Amino acid sequence: MEMNFESILLPGVDGKRPIVIAGPCSAESEEQVLDSARALSGKGIKIFRAGIWKPRTKPGGFEGVGMEGLKWMKRAKEETGMYIATEVATKVHVEAALEAGIDYFWIGARTAVNPFAVQEIADALSGVDIPVLIKNPVNPDLELWIGAIERLYGAGIHRLAAIHRGFSSYDKKIYRNLPLWHIPIELRRRLPNLPIFCDPSHIGGKRELIAPLCQQAMDLNFDGLIVESHCNPDKAWSDAFQQITPDVLDYVLNLLVIRETNQTTENLSELRRQIDNIDEQLLELLAKRMRVSREIGIYKKEHNMPILQTPRYGEILENRSQMGSSLDLSADFVKEILKEIHEESVRQQMIIMNELK
Ligand code: PEP
Ligand code: MN
Repeated sequence: MEMNFESILLPGVDGKRPIVIAGPCSAESEEQVLDSARALSGKGIKIFRAGIWKPRTKPGGFEGVGMEGLKWMKRAKEETGMYIATEVATKVHVEAALEAGIDYFWIGARTAVNPFAVQEIADALSGVDIPVLIKNPVNPDLELWIGAIERLYGAGIHRLAAIHRGFSSYDKKIYRNLPLWHIPIELRRRLPNLPIFCDPSHIGGKRELIAPLCQQAMDLNFDGLIVESHCNPDKAWSDAFQQITPDVLDYVLNLLVIRETNQTTENLSELRRQIDNIDEQLLELLAKRMRVSREIGIYKKEHNMPILQTPRYGEILENRSQMGSSLDLSADFVKEILKEIHEESVRQQMIIMNELK
């Protein structure tokens, strides 16, 4: 689907990187919403977030304050002049949020995985001119993410942005949700005009990761940040470990180094020419390797040998990672590349086996 996105900026919101959306994970009480909003507004934040309906892994926990919280958001908007943003997951949410004057909608990661739910939201928003931000689905599936964006676009919502909030994984050693940066990078390649926000709070899951993740997002040229910020993070009813105070948020934002996007110096062009050359050589070498591999395939076929020679594969991996280390390449990286190359060699040899039958 061809998509021409329109600006998500409302009057008074500066488009300079990063565009910041901040506020607590959840609205908890009128006092908590207003205290957080006032403090954030005092730090120059223009878009205030809070979850009203919270999708939780297990039932029985705090699932958001619901409709009542919309009134508190509205008060925060009237009092501070900030725009207000919340997550919607159903038609009922959309209608209530529109009625309450919510300015920005976002679709959560657990909703983005479900085309029925996304379509229901798109249909409910049809004909309404409102900016919507779409989080990546919890699983690393770029097509599903783009599909959700297309559903909204198809309903006439052209003021869209994406939010990268990381991908769910069993491995929680460092991140709560793995960043897998290549996915938003590929999204940028596919939809160059779509603004991309980073949600360091849900990627990191802990306060100390907010600053480095914000910086990484800026280094990758993301357009904005959506950060969970609470007036009293330790007492938060949801996601307490990852929320920061408005003061800390301000500190983090002030430390960000924003790199220029459009400057290409002569030196850089020269280095890029070198990269182009090296890539060409790499591809020629790969093609040559595949030719040899096909010859081996013919030999195996003629001598009735199986394609897979496991000891040989093990030896290649071992020997090449050592070679890689001595060349200052990470062993994991070398293994990963050789695994891919080997897979393609096997595929090529399988074609040969079939052809000669
Ligand atoms: C949130 O932003 O509070 C939230 C629930 O996020 P996600 O959908 O990314 O889990
Ligand atoms: Mn949260």
